[in-house]
Amino acid sequence: MRFKLTHKYLLFRLSIFFSFLKQTVKLKQKLRPSQKMEAFKVFRDATLVEALVKRIKKEAEDLPNRPVHVMDFCGSHTQVIVKEGIDQLLENYIKFIHGPGCPVCVLPQERVDLAIQLAKSGVILCTYGDVLRVPGSNRFSLLHAKAEGYDVRMLYLCLETIKIAQENPNKEVVFFAIGFETTTPHTASLILKAKELGIKNLSVVCNHVVTPAAVQHILNSPEVREYGKVRIDAFIGPGHVSTIIGTKPYEYFVEEFRKPVAISGFEPVDILSSILAIVRQLKTRNYKVENCYQRAVDKEGNKKAQELVAQVFELRKSFKWRGLGVIPYSALKIRKEYEDYDAEKKFQIKVSSSQEPKGCICGAVLRGLRAPTDCTLFGNVCTPENPMGSCMVSPEGACNAYFRYRYGVYAV
Ligand code: SF4
Repeated sequence: MRFKLTHKYLLFRLSIFFSFLKQTVKLKQKLRPSQKMEAFKVFRDATLVEALVKRIKKEAEDLPNRPVHVMDFCGSHTQVIVKEGIDQLLENYIKFIHGPGCPVCVLPQERVDLAIQLAKSGVILCTYGDVLRVPGSNRFSLLHAKAEGYDVRMLYLCLETIKIAQENPNKEVVFFAIGFETTTPHTASLILKAKELGIKNLSVVCNHVVTPAAVQHILNSPEVREYGKVRIDAFIGPGHVSTIIGTKPYEYFVEEFRKPVAISGFEPVDILSSILAIVRQLKTRNYKVENCYQRAVDKEGNKKAQELVAQVFELRKSFKWRGLGVIPYSALKIRKEYEDYDAEKKFQIKVSSSQEPKGCICGAVLRGLRAPTDCTLFGNVCTPENPMGSCMVSPEGACNAYFRYRYGVYAV
């Protein structure tokens, strides 16, 4: 019996290995879009999902203090976990805590107010779609400013602002840049391109934030370190961010805080493979950074993108995050060499700090202290169409994901 089980298990592992190998080789070849979709199917394969769930449960059985508390640090991971019901499949074994990995959610009200004031000052204010709906003070958003007639434009690519600036030589064009390491290289390219073309009526408000500083801040926070209010046993590392920064920056967290980190892709099999890697590390107490997204991430990351960012940006001494407060060296600013493209210097607009909407617990949700469904406004007053806080705006926000995929279960 014992031999049979081991034999079966080996066959199971080999079949997983060969199907991954086959699909990864296929993905690296030049494929037509339809073939690529076919190749990706393995990462959503129901049999694999079922087998991985069983394996995780079996291996986690021996762990004391179950469920294991795993923080995901990427809005897209939050979305997949909730949408695919991975948290429900692993109930009592793994508890997911959704960290501040949604770029729109961590944007503080003051920065939204700054964008609104710029738009009202007469510039053409350009930004990515979700930012338009983030409430600033008194729940006034860029979308409201647009409705009042101010020139606010939604972009898919920040380089579109070059054309807008060229077509409107008598107006100032401001790109309100947000995001983690994934989108920062695009903004760097925009500034370099504008300089190369000698465009003078284009500038950028830089709100780009950096992931490792926020992870460190969370692990050092009193709630995690001293009070034990938030238990974090391990991290699922963000996939998109890691394509740029590589796996190396996470090594510090493993050494300093003795927590497993597994970098994950965005399909159910990716997430479950990362959870299995975490459970095995916890069992053996052999903590490391495990790259479970090897088809996109390597140790060093994207050197070209890193060079672009380093050329144009430098670290800010401090930056305020929504929910987390002021974190030292957690965001970027435009270097002096490119200050002509720095909208904060060009327009010198100051905004004062403002109160979060009454009843909104976005800050506690972003710190992993509370779940979206703990909020009394969830689903009744606050919905994706009528967001009270930033976590309900973007599909990457935890409140938004719970509303879209769990509303029937949790609505009050
Ligand atoms: S449900 Fe709405 S009001 Fe409540 S925490 Fe989430 S975003 Fe804020």
